[in-house]
Amino acid sequence: MDNKIIIVGAGLCGSLLALRMAMKGYSVVMYERRPDMRKSRVNAGRSINLALSDRGLLALELAGIKDDILPPSFRCTVV
Ligand SMILES: Cc1cc2nc3c(=O)[nH]c(=O)nc-3n(C[C@H](O)[C@H](O)[C@H](O)COP(=O)(O)OP(=O)(O)OC[C@H]3O[C@@H](n4cnc5c(N)ncnc54)[C@H](O)[C@@H]3O)c2cc1C
Repeated sequence: MDNKIIIVGAGLCGSLLALRMAMKGYSVVMYERRPDMRKSRVNAGRSINLALSDRGLLALELAGIKDDILPPSFRCTVV
């Protein structure tokens, strides 16, 4: 079986899919049209709040990083 996977788009879904497929032993190649923000200057200097729903928490759990991400976060409550 060919175990190579190509994913176009390194957004939230593409990145999670790439990680999960790599964890399952697939060889993953990703294509992203935007430059790597770790290597180039991008217009992303603003800070925003990031809200996590149940499915977001499940994604973190599947990726094995939920326990690393949750401690510095806080629960949103509606009063
Ligand atoms: C200001 C803002 C705040 C948000 N806050 C939250 C939040 O707090 N919590 C939350 O859960 N969601 C939030 N969202 C929504 C969340 O960002 C999206 O639901 C999520 O990014 C969708 O993931 P995606 O992988 O489908 O798409 P995207 O994240 O948009 O990723 C798609 C990627 O594909 C790339 N791409 C597209 N076409 C091509 C191509 N032809 N070739 C190569 N690459 C390509 C794009 O450059 C992009 O990087 C927010 C969105 C915005 C705009």
